[in-house]
Formats: sequence, C-alpha cells, structure tokens
Amino acid sequence: MSNVSNIPKTMKALRLHEFGSDYRLDHDVPVPLDLGDYDVLIAIKSAGFCHTELLIRDGLARPKPKQLPLIPSHEPAGIIVAMGKKVSDEYKIGDRVGAINFYNACANCPDCLNDNNIYCENYDGTGVSIDGAFAEYQKADSRWLVPLPDELSFQDAAPLMCAGLTAFSAIEKCALKKGQVIGIIGLGALGHLAVQFAKCMGLKVVAIDNRQEALDVVQKLKHTPDLIIDSSKINEENAIEQIKTLQSSTKDVYTGVDATIIMTEPVKAYTYALTITRKHGTMIAVGIPREPVPINVINIIMRDITIKGSLLGDIECAQRMVKFVVDHEIQGEIKCYTLEEAADNLIKDFNRPDMKGKLVVNVSA
Ligand SMILES: [Zn+2]
Ligand SMILES: [Zn+2]
Repeated sequence: MSNVSNIPKTMKALRLHEFGSDYRLDHDVPVPLDLGDYDVLIAIKSAGFCHTELLIRDGLARPKPKQLPLIPSHEPAGIIVAMGKKVSDEYKIGDRVGAINFYNACANCPDCLNDNNIYCENYDGTGVSIDGAFAEYQKADSRWLVPLPDELSFQDAAPLMCAGLTAFSAIEKCALKKGQVIGIIGLGALGHLAVQFAKCMGLKVVAIDNRQEALDVVQKLKHTPDLIIDSSKINEENAIEQIKTLQSSTKDVYTGVDATIIMTEPVKAYTYALTITRKHGTMIAVGIPREPVPINVINIIMRDITIKGSLLGDIECAQRMVKFVVDHEIQGEIKCYTLEEAADNLIKDFNRPDMKGKLVVNVSA
C-alpha cells in the first residue's frame, strides 16, 4: 500500500445520524485509511447529491446502510492520494478521477460471472451502504474508477458519476439511429443531461416536463431540444401533433416518438410516455415511481411497445460518456455548496418546487 503517513487521521464529513433527519457536519471523522488491495483513497474535491440520497435518508435504499452514521453521496470527483497493492498500474497517485458507486461486487453471482456486475445484488454501495463522498476523503474500489480529463472540472465531473451515466446508458439502450426522435420526460438532473447527450448523438429530441423551471433550463442549454412540451398545458394528443412536425412524412413511419425515457417518478409521466410512443417503439423506465404504475396492457400488445428498465451503465459506458461530455462541451446546470452550507441547505433546497439541475458540494478548493 502506498504511504499514508502524510494523510490526516481525521476529516470533515457530512453524515446522516438518524433516518429521516438532516445531515450533520462532523469535524472529527476518521479518514478511511484501511485500504483493501483494490482500494484507492480519493481526496474529494466535489460530490453530487442524487435523488437516491432522499431514499437513503428515509431508510428506503438498497443495499441498506451497514450502520449509521453514514457519509452520503455516490458521485465523487477528486484526486488519488493512496492506493492498495493490487490497483492496476494504469492509475497513480495524483490522478484526477471519479468513481461509480460499486464496491466489491461479489464476483460469484450470474451477473458478475456474465460481465454484467452492475446488476450484482451482493455488493456495497459507496454513499449508500458504506461511506461516500460528502467528506474530505473517500475509499473507492479502483475497478470502478473513471479517469477525468483535465478539461473537465471536478464540480462538472461529479454529477456524471450517477446522473450522467444513468442518462447516457439509457439513451444507448434505446438503440436509435441518427435522425430518429427520442422523448425525454422529466428534465431534472438526469433529463437535462439526457437532452444534451441525445442531441449530440444526432437524435431529434422532444423535452417534456410540467415544471416551468425545468423547461427554462433546457431552453438555455448549449444543445437545445428540437421541441419543448409543457405537459401541464399540452395533453398527449396535442403533443403527438407537435411531434409529427419532427418526423418524416413518408408512409412507412408511425406517428409518435421512436423511444421515450421516463426520468421522473410521477405515475402520470408513465402514462403520458406510453401514449406518445409510436407503434413498435420503446419506453425506458429510469425514474422510480413510489407506487405501482397501472398500464393498459392491450395498448402494449396491440402497438407492440417494448418497455425496459435501465439502472446504471458499466465502467466502459462511463468512460465513453466522460469523453463524450468533453468532446461535445456538454455543460450541466449545477448549484454549488460548501460542506458548511450543505449541512443546512442541501435537502431543503432539493425539495423546493423551483429546484433545477444538480446540487454539488465543493468539499475542498
Ligand atoms: Zn444516484
Ligand atoms: Zn455479483
């Protein structure tokens, strides 16, 4: 293991002490210096706040925290300051990295054995079941590191580690060709990134939300959608009429979007998505509704709609996504906090109706 003697023994960290409560800023948290063979210690620069943080806060996340207090955030970006002895030599001290939240996937389940370990059910989630990135230092599994190009700032990189990867991978799963039409429903942290990814992949993009703040965000992006629909004012039938204007008028094309990604949780978003998806189209579920979604199955059968779920992407997808962000100069909407500011404001601000984009904690300069 590399020398950890020059690393402080304690650190500042935001911690969840009790389910349902706000975070507390603690100043004397032990630095995780007990590195395993594949671990690296990251000096955190920035860390993102994900919607999952609320589920963890309420004790509803999977896998469950091993114990409280827990340091949340599974979107780290920082610098490697120490490494275990089996870490690949493609990494060295001083490297700028982000990390996906998998820690020690089991290596024995059907998914791990079939190179699909993001679906392993026997792993730890950093920031979920074990300590995460709202701290000066975080331990991460080097097999899930994402090298960060110099052009990408830490505060822009952090939200890519969950929100960016989830959005990018869901679009890839739609398997559309250039010029086809994709609908993005829900223009929050994931959706406003998805709009930009899809545009830069050569797709025609329909951006849909029922909140003015979210619609304003996508209007101001560098890569704006082809069509913006306020679903609080425009019903599905009228939306389809507008979508028609983006489609080829040849006889071999059915009306509606070729694929829809639902990036928000209300049940209504799912029924809206099903209606505007064309015959033989695809719907990808990303936002997790808290209640079951009633789906009119005959609609799926008669119109041959494929419905798929999408979790994260794998590590190759993450590395592709980061390069894509830099190549296309994709810029997320972020609001930054210091650790001190975050303790009081993060959860409160996330729940505000006018919340937009992504909340990021700048842990150190
Ligand atoms: Zn997340
Ligand atoms: Zn496994």
